[in-house]
Amino acid sequence: MTPLIEGPFVDDTAHAGDVCLHDAGGQRRWLNMVLSPIGDGLLQGVVHDVSTLKEAEALARRQAITDPLTGLANRHGIEQRLRDGVASLAQGQSSGLALVMVDLDGFSKVNEGIGLPAGDEVLRVVTSRLLSCVKESDTVARLAADIFVVMLQNVSRSATALKVVGRIVNLLRQPYLVEGSPIVLHASIGIALAPNDGEDVPTLLRHAELAVDKAKAAGGDTHVFFDPTLSRIAEHRRQLEKDLRQALHKEEFVLFYQPVVDLHARRLVGAEALIRWRHPERGLVSPDAFIPLAEQTGIIDEIGLWVFDSVCRQISAWRAAGHDYRISFNVSGRQIPDGLSPEILAETLRRYAVPPQSIALEITEGVLLADVDQARAWLDAAHGLGMRVYLDDFGTGYSSLSYLKRFPVDTLKVDKSFVLDMHDDGNERTLVEAIIAMGRSLGLDVVAEGVESAAHADLLRHMGCHYAQGYHFARPLPVAEFEAAAGHIAAQLAPAAAR
Ligand code: C2E
Ligand code: CA
Ligand code: CA
Repeated sequence: MTPLIEGPFVDDTAHAGDVCLHDAGGQRRWLNMVLSPIGDGLLQGVVHDVSTLKEAEALARRQAITDPLTGLANRHGIEQRLRDGVASLAQGQSSGLALVMVDLDGFSKVNEGIGLPAGDEVLRVVTSRLLSCVKESDTVARLAADIFVVMLQNVSRSATALKVVGRIVNLLRQPYLVEGSPIVLHASIGIALAPNDGEDVPTLLRHAELAVDKAKAAGGDTHVFFDPTLSRIAEHRRQLEKDLRQALHKEEFVLFYQPVVDLHARRLVGAEALIRWRHPERGLVSPDAFIPLAEQTGIIDEIGLWVFDSVCRQISAWRAAGHDYRISFNVSGRQIPDGLSPEILAETLRRYAVPPQSIALEITEGVLLADVDQARAWLDAAHGLGMRVYLDDFGTGYSSLSYLKRFPVDTLKVDKSFVLDMHDDGNERTLVEAIIAMGRSLGLDVVAEGVESAAHADLLRHMGCHYAQGYHFARPLPVAEFEAAAGHIAAQLAPAAAR
């Protein structure tokens, strides 16, 4: 209760304040009083019953810190509790705090599958399971749709936190009954301990979140304790992302071209465009070091537009010099369908007057499986424009015949891992043969990647593989070196008699 009227008594000033009284039934009533001096030490006043207003205020305060679905504390609520926890830690009244962040794996998919009301019911069951794992003095909160936080009081050792985490993991793994059918959920759990991992609320929350991210990146269904390397990795990523956003404007990207040869006609037929980043400090950065981040952050859309534009410009320059190469380039799933829309494809082809059949899009199986209808509509549109469609890294994924028939795919690219191991490993060799045979039976071309030796090339030619690409012929090259390599490859491919 926060009464009353407090302060110096001044004879000629009005005094106002609230008073809390209990009526006969034990009900609290709030009265607001305004008192004015009327001389001779006497006061005259007005008293209002403000109970309804006070209750409304209290309710609003509670609602501001409560998650309506579960009745748990929400983000504001847990921040408040954490502030209190951190304060009592600083005053030596607590030995430590553990912040356990629980992120349900793939919950949005479950939600889509079972519908929102059933999803909400699952979240309520998760809530009661979490509450049953902790003491009354601990706090359970819901931070976002499927992210919960448990704050454990007086925990100074990771072993103690781990015990609770073990209970949480076991309980959350129990099936959830949704309309009579059991569904199973897992969680990614991140743990930060105060004061070791942070002494203020934002730091502790951020560190628990970094630990969750690590657990998620490891495939989920696991727990990770925060450690300072996670901060360093996050900082590195942040810097990389910042640099990446500026790289396009600073014109730091460049396309290298890796020759593709026709093993039977023994000639150079085109190339795959592969991006490189000329970083001012780090030098030439390979795509594996930045494409995944570009995909996660969406920067891939802008990069992808630049790649396509550059490929068209280069084809047009090569054509002007009398070379009729077919150039393929890589398209990430993220770019489909809006990042590289069929309209943009058509417009760019027109602008550079490039014949569509001299361009091939390389996509992976994952793209086809993520959203089948969307992928098919986009591929049909691109294919309809006359561009070729290559299925990249073939053999590493699902590799099913049935979906190959459903999409407009022209060419399979046999993943380099199989080609590289072909000689030492009978299985890999059989697999390459099977992919070539599969391609043939479906009327598809086959390009073998990772051809590193003459023996690879001969074996592939013998197996009936039409096209090849690999270090044996040339590494990915800057345009300026491409012509010289083309001459060298022509000589290399000439039949023995002609050499
Ligand atoms: P990928 O599409 O599978 O490209 C083939 C990779 O194999 C290239 O690596 C290439 O340099 C390498 N390679 C070629 N021949 C040989 C060989 O004989 N032996 C071996 N061991 N490796 C060979 P790179 O250039 O580092 O590219 C890596 C990946 O980055 C690519 O794999 C592709 O997935 C991605 N990437 C490259 N450029 C782009 C781009 O413009 N956009 C997108 N979205 N992804 C790209
Ligand atoms: Ca590729
Ligand atoms: Ca590949």
